[in-house]
Amino acid sequence: MKKRVIVIGAGLAGMIAAYMAQREGAEVLLVDRGSIGLGTNSAMANGVFAGPTGSYGGKEYIADTIDIGRGINRRPMVEIAAAEARGAISLLRSVGLDVVEGTNLHSVRSPDPAVIPGVAIVKKIAGALVSLDGFRAITGFYVTDIMKAEGCACGIRGLSATGKETAIAADAVILAAGGAGAVYLKNDNQKTIMGQGYEVAVRAGLALWDMEFVQFYPLVFADPHLPSMLVFPPYHEAAELTNSVGEDIVVKYGLGNINEAVIKKRDEFSAILFRELQSGPVSMDFRNIPPKMWKEHPLSLLARMKHDFSTEPAAVSPAAHFFMGGVKIDEKGETELPGLFACGEVAFGLHGANRRGGNALLECIVFGSIAGKSAARHAMESDTHSMKRPEPVPADISGSKGDFRAIRQEIRGIAWNNAGVVRSEEGMKEGLEKIGEAQRRLKEAAPANERDRRLKLDIGSAAFTVQAILTASLGRKESRGSFLRGDLPGEDNTNWKKNSCLKYDAEHDLFALSFENVGQKI
Ligand SMILES: Cc1cc2nc3c(=O)[nH]c(=O)nc-3n(C[C@H](O)[C@H](O)[C@H](O)COP(=O)(O)OP(=O)(O)OC[C@H]3O[C@@H](n4cnc5c(N)ncnc54)[C@H](O)[C@@H]3O)c2cc1C
Repeated sequence: MKKRVIVIGAGLAGMIAAYMAQREGAEVLLVDRGSIGLGTNSAMANGVFAGPTGSYGGKEYIADTIDIGRGINRRPMVEIAAAEARGAISLLRSVGLDVVEGTNLHSVRSPDPAVIPGVAIVKKIAGALVSLDGFRAITGFYVTDIMKAEGCACGIRGLSATGKETAIAADAVILAAGGAGAVYLKNDNQKTIMGQGYEVAVRAGLALWDMEFVQFYPLVFADPHLPSMLVFPPYHEAAELTNSVGEDIVVKYGLGNINEAVIKKRDEFSAILFRELQSGPVSMDFRNIPPKMWKEHPLSLLARMKHDFSTEPAAVSPAAHFFMGGVKIDEKGETELPGLFACGEVAFGLHGANRRGGNALLECIVFGSIAGKSAARHAMESDTHSMKRPEPVPADISGSKGDFRAIRQEIRGIAWNNAGVVRSEEGMKEGLEKIGEAQRRLKEAAPANERDRRLKLDIGSAAFTVQAILTASLGRKESRGSFLRGDLPGEDNTNWKKNSCLKYDAEHDLFALSFENVGQKI
């Protein structure tokens, strides 16, 4: 009997893990609450991959990544990324993607400039996956738990597309469920990405690391009539970013080259815009861009929108973009629960306190490949999955009918106001109280239909994630990278060059927080 690997999440990390596990000889089940590839954050990506190039060496890449991460990256993970980056680019080319080498990064070019490069990437990888023997996908399946037997992961449990409580056994499981950007009122993520993977991991007994580090992308559309979409770089030299009194923000703050700033100084750039927005709107003005540029990527993406950017500037604001924190993995991509592997945004370590632009997609390929291969090998060595099939548990159907959309909005507001770009002790304490209150109301609210049942699960994960961000943030008594405290603005390398660790105590519904010195071993 073939050994089975289940992959949770069909973004870039999950698809690559599935691809590699199958090539290693396992039977692979790729499970997503949505579809395969599309609907993920990966599909929204701009196609930028960091890593060494012909003119940019591995050592420089490692030094830059750790400098941007303010020294709390897990160095062995950065070294693995550096060593495997060329292989990742070859893999992209091998499935037929057009990859262009830049000075210190690679970019995937979409065949149609009006299509986001991420869509081109996920479509090509999905195409390669479905052609493999022994690969199966289950769409519309919402995973609620990792099943365990004899101290090992042995399958998943969740709701099938028809709402049926379902358990599926496996010899190894890979968690590739992405981050949580959509827990914030202002974000540029897919709107269902709300920390479900973090909650699943914690319910399986895992700790969450570095959850205080949330990256805010500086330039996201903020006009109410526009979608909350990232303004895709690279920015043309004729584009201008101005504050409420018409000053050029890049010049005013000496940000240098705006395109370098969005790759390497996202934290500083976002904090500048956040503060400027206290005095009035910030706009991106594209009016001086030559007309022929509107047919080319990335302006071609704006040309499709219901706003004439060539005649009217648009309001922009920082918005939640990426989570640096997550679960701990070792050099095989295995978590602290044997048989459970993790990759992509749900894992922590590569980025430290701030992520260098392009390192998320690279992470998906490098650590997705590692997790896929290792999970398949683990599965081959394990007892057969049919021997350890636990029973499913009944669903939550108690309480009175709830207004889930209102609770979701409230949680997003708490995240933005109390765990946002610049935090304070007072604000975070208030946020924790408010989250506790929202969680109590959520618990009592009953879903009226299948849609609300999933929404309730989503909101539960969002509240749990915000609780984790606030708890870890309250413990860190400094500012570092993406983590900014208005009341403690300096970086303190003597006391805080550490990673935070949250262990959940389900009985008291509390996280126990500790800090560990940054380890040199993985
Ligand atoms: C607008 C935008 C542009 C970006 N551009 C770049 C870029 O150019 N370069 C770069 O390096 N990074 C970029 N990033 C970041 C990068 O895209 C993401 O970090 C990366 O794609 C995450 O991939 P992933 O596979 O880990 O997760 P995702 O792609 O988010 O996929 C996770 C999947 O898991 C599913 N899932 C979650 N929970 C469950 C559950 N309980 N049950 C079933 N399914 C579940 C989700 O529905 C989702 O489909 C960008 C991000 C955004 C938002």
